[in-house]
Amino acid sequence: MIVTTYTCDRCNHSQDEGSQMWEIELTRKEKGLKFMGAQKTKLNALWCRSCMEAHDLLPSASLKEVENIKPPPTIEDIIQEMIEDALSNPI
Ligand SMILES: [Zn+2]
Repeated sequence: MIVTTYTCDRCNHSQDEGSQMWEIELTRKEKGLKFMGAQKTKLNALWCRSCMEAHDLLPSASLKEVENIKPPPTIEDIIQEMIEDALSNPI
């Protein structure tokens, strides 16, 4: 059995799924440097949601806000509403 564990490189939070984890890529280049690629260092890391939120790195519509959005009505809901509307407003 192979078990994959995702661990945040910043706070060591671990979880079994890769969702709600983000790959962070950081590049450093000295300002005013004339040579492309010189003094350039690249860092890759995996961060959890908590660390992403702590550094304000997530889009404004976070997953929590998306989860709170009311789902669209089903076709049954729409038909039921039309029937109730017709019954309450007879011609
Ligand atoms: Zn973290």
